[in-house]
Amino acid sequence: MKRWDFYLIILVLSAAGIWYLFNSHDFNGDRGKGARVHIYSDSVETAVLPLDRDTSLTVNGYGGYTCLVNITSGRVNVTEATCPDKLCVRQKSISKNGETIVCLPARIVIEIETSAERGLSDYDGISE
Ligand SMILES: [Zn+2]
Repeated sequence: MKRWDFYLIILVLSAAGIWYLFNSHDFNGDRGKGARVHIYSDSVETAVLPLDRDTSLTVNGYGGYTCLVNITSGRVNVTEATCPDKLCVRQKSISKNGETIVCLPARIVIEIETSAERGLSDYDGISE
């Protein structure tokens, strides 16, 4: 039983550490008002990136297909992909809350979430 307690403490500590990391990122730059880019691969969330930081990430999807996701000046775009139809590359770049880019063959979904909007409604729900 004590061993399980130990694992639980490690789990809680690492979760708190991750929470702290994500929150400290928001303090460093509020240009994008905390907007995040959620990347799902085969319905599992594989990455959450801040929309206001230029970066690129290769996402491994279903069937060994990959999509190269680029974040540039608050816009998200798939610039390269190994999937057969390349529809994800042809889709327009996204920048607004709720917009998505989907790659069906690789089962990759990229979604923007403006946490400012969701955060406010969450707080309302708690206080009332
Ligand atoms: Zn694709």
